[in-house]
Amino acid sequence: MSVLIKGGRIVTAADDYVADVYVEDETVSLIGESLDMSADKVIDASGKYVLPGLVDPHTHLDMPFGGTVTIDDVESGQTAAAFGGTTCHVDFIIQPQGSTFADAFADWRSKASGKQVIDMGYHMAVTDLEEGGTLEELASLPDEGITSYKLFMAYKGALMVDDETLFRTMEVASETGALVMVHAENGDVIDVLVKQALAAGNTDPIYHALTRPPEAEGEATNRAIQLAHLAGAPLYVVHVTCREAVEPIALAREKGWDVWGETCTQYFFTSLDDIAKPNFEGAKYVYSPPVRDKSNWEVLWNAVRNDDLSAISTDHCAFTWDGQKTLGKDDFSKIPNGGPGLENRLHMIHEFGVRSGRISLNRMVELLATNPAKLFGLYPKKGTVAVGSDADIVVFDPERKFTITAADQHSRTDYNLYEGTEVTGTPEVVLLRGNVLVEGDELVASPGIGQFVPRARFGQELRAKVVA
Ligand SMILES: [Zn+2]
Repeated sequence: MSVLIKGGRIVTAADDYVADVYVEDETVSLIGESLDMSADKVIDASGKYVLPGLVDPHTHLDMPFGGTVTIDDVESGQTAAAFGGTTCHVDFIIQPQGSTFADAFADWRSKASGKQVIDMGYHMAVTDLEEGGTLEELASLPDEGITSYKLFMAYKGALMVDDETLFRTMEVASETGALVMVHAENGDVIDVLVKQALAAGNTDPIYHALTRPPEAEGEATNRAIQLAHLAGAPLYVVHVTCREAVEPIALAREKGWDVWGETCTQYFFTSLDDIAKPNFEGAKYVYSPPVRDKSNWEVLWNAVRNDDLSAISTDHCAFTWDGQKTLGKDDFSKIPNGGPGLENRLHMIHEFGVRSGRISLNRMVELLATNPAKLFGLYPKKGTVAVGSDADIVVFDPERKFTITAADQHSRTDYNLYEGTEVTGTPEVVLLRGNVLVEGDELVASPGIGQFVPRARFGQELRAKVVA
């Protein structure tokens, strides 16, 4: 199958120019002016942007959590991603305590089998380590293409690890070339605050945010940075929400340490005002770390502009409001933590980042595609439009208006964090390795087209093809 994309404005992290793109088999084979070749499919992209397919480094599909399972499985979650211009994501395998990583990996692969709409890789969330077992097994994961280890410093009694497990994992990473990822919140302190709130009869969703203060995130972020530096491991702090966590990351980066930070779409747009909404409406905004006061929105925009933070993910972890979030109707600590977002990352960041003049188009591509691809060993196969790269391409119409609403979304959840928001600019055609995935409102390809992508070790490149 060959595709010729004519006259679009190609925008990568570094470049912005008008040219034609010729796709042969699954990769970009030629980029040039007025290419005159025949193709199975010709796409007129004049007046449109030609962007690399986006990479989401942080999602949770078909994941057991909080007494239930996230509502989007691989098929519905990846369909939502495809319509939002995301063609590759990295999902979290959660090691059940006491289980081997091999068993957990096999379980996650079987959940994806036959359902994949886009390409995907995996991070391994480490929940416990045993000497003479999983501690040694951890070192072999990069050979399987799993080149990042995630640790939860929060969720005491469930996913949280102690500093010993955190530090030992960092030591292994420093040897194996894996990237360490942390959910940075002080779980012990949060546990105390949650118990005090419940004892005082405070059960509404707002107490989810009030018992997880910014200081708990700032402290854990700094602790992870110092420990990773001590172990000699590269560190990626997921879902940064506030000044207290941005500051230690910025300081470490100023010193030249191997530290990167990510924020998520929702933290630019949701706040304590949302989680305080009456009639349990606030439960829609229960995720961790929690929503913050609005002063942090500008902190985050500044941080993604000046590279204190290097990526924007979705942390898509969708539950229905009616039926799942309601598990915590009488106790905020039982509300499943997580929110949807895979479908609207590009819509929201293009509208309120690029169109509002906060970041450039190039920077948007860098934050949503190129940096995630580079940091997680997918580049340059993913994350850019270049000869030899996978033909994962979004033809984006910057003029077409689009209203975000749960009624039209592809996620299975029953609400949208940005309900009713009107944006200008939406994907028109999405290609996955040269295959038409989405055209207008239609999913053209069938589930099963997506593939598992083994990722390169930290700092290495993943070549799509060896170019002679
Ligand atoms: Zn997450």
